[in-house]
Amino acid sequence: MPMRRRTASRLTRPSSAERWGRLRLRSGARGAEQVRGSGGASSIARAHGGSSTGRATVIVLTALGILASPLVAGVRHLTVGRSVHGRAIRAEVIGPDSAPRKILVVGCIHGNECAGMAIVAALAQQPVPKGVQLWLVPEMNPDGTAAETRQNAHGVDLNRNFPFRWRPIVNATYNAGPRPLSEPETRAAVRLISSIHPAVTIWYHQHEDLVDMAGGDRGVARRYAHLARLRATCLPFLPGTATGWSNHAFPGTTSFVVELPAGRVTRRALAMHLAALAGVEQGQRVGSRTGCGP
Ligand SMILES: [Zn+2]
Repeated sequence: MPMRRRTASRLTRPSSAERWGRLRLRSGARGAEQVRGSGGASSIARAHGGSSTGRATVIVLTALGILASPLVAGVRHLTVGRSVHGRAIRAEVIGPDSAPRKILVVGCIHGNECAGMAIVAALAQQPVPKGVQLWLVPEMNPDGTAAETRQNAHGVDLNRNFPFRWRPIVNATYNAGPRPLSEPETRAAVRLISSIHPAVTIWYHQHEDLVDMAGGDRGVARRYAHLARLRATCLPFLPGTATGWSNHAFPGTTSFVVELPAGRVTRRALAMHLAALAGVEQGQRVGSRTGCGP
């Protein structure tokens, strides 16, 4: 598809999101002001099951580079990185930069496990509590989403490519890449998390139907699991994961995995996940910080 660039309208005031964009420009990368069309748009529409909600329409139009940000009052749209094939990794930012509590929600990193994108899209339509700034990344692996593959376009499992306790895995499914952070999508995630320093990061996967408390404050993940009616557990440690890296790199923060069941998110499940996310936004937690019990 031919490249089409468009300059976004100026943001009304300096923001952490804008500063982040400048940071990217200073580093020599293409900045948030540049967008171009990609096959990601069709994949987003597919993940929404073809629904034509206004929000989904806005996301698709943004992915096509037809609309410039900001699109909706209080919501800013950024490109926070590029995939191997140059597809934009997009973020929506909701809430003021002055908010002390940043929360990041990633809808999909394994491109064949993207039911969480529907939760992210619904979350973008919810009010954000005072004191919270919400960062939404529908898809961290847009090439994988477009191809419906777990891996990125290099065949790398991005959730084995993060630098904490990375080790080589020569396996078609769990290929960790030639070295830590070898993939542009992984680097984009690390840049973003290092920049905004979220108190809580949630990564949606499928199809295990549980919450992996992973690390950080497990009481946060346990509360999410309770509200979403999922089992909370601690899966065995895996090398090179996003959660392992950020829980290690940023003590005091919490990053965990929500493994959705197979298939699309039902209307009932969506309501429960939105309630669980509201609990996270409000700082709810329950039980032990470190224990893996219920
Ligand atoms: Zn996964």
